[in-house]
Amino acid sequence: MTSDVGLRYLAVTSTTTGKSTFHTGRRVRARANHDARMRKRLQHKGTRSATRRLVAISGRERRLKQDANHVVSKRIVTQHPHSLIGLEQLTDIRERTKRRRGRSASKKQRKANATFSKWSFAELHAMIASKALRNESMAIKVDAHYTSQACPRCGHTARENRPKQGLLFVCQNCQYTLHADLVGARNVTMRTLVIRQDWMTTGTLSECPDVSCEEAKAERLRRYSELRWSTDTSPRSSDGGI
Ligand SMILES: [Zn+2]
Repeated sequence: MTSDVGLRYLAVTSTTTGKSTFHTGRRVRARANHDARMRKRLQHKGTRSATRRLVAISGRERRLKQDANHVVSKRIVTQHPHSLIGLEQLTDIRERTKRRRGRSASKKQRKANATFSKWSFAELHAMIASKALRNESMAIKVDAHYTSQACPRCGHTARENRPKQGLLFVCQNCQYTLHADLVGARNVTMRTLVIRQDWMTTGTLSECPDVSCEEAKAERLRRYSELRWSTDTSPRSSDGGI
């Protein structure tokens, strides 16, 4: 997922065969926005009954989000049985969402940010991981550095590939154009394949990238930069990248 996990979508999935799914969580988002407005109004009031209602609303918000995480994680795991599922490292995602805020963000995007900034992606990932095990799959963490800036076709990596940090990814080198979240998901899919290949050859699964070692990080990014997306040459497997 998230892919580009998590601004306009709760999750975006991509498989090595090019199938992708966007999980919007739209219904929950509408209700969450409604609750947020209500909460603001009640906070202004400050009376005892307002406080009581505030507590009730907070509880409802939490359950609502938890339910959505359950639904989305179940859907993802069911859609990809017997798979190695790559999930973007959450700390990297948080860094990226920060950049998209500010005055340049559209009203719609700011609204989505408000909902998702408080979203528990850690919970969503934990649910995917535990449900995966029950479905003979496995979830691993994948380095999310530059997943939204790297061109899946030619490897060109630049911030300019995301004009105005908008919805579209447009490679400034080869003009490859695709929904930005899908680009992120595809990059995660390719990185998941790299991890799987390493696992097959070395017998060791090195899922969580060691960010403390600069040398290892540089080497990893160099390998990632050589990855090229092609559904024709993809091995036939059902590995999913999220
Ligand atoms: Zn390109």
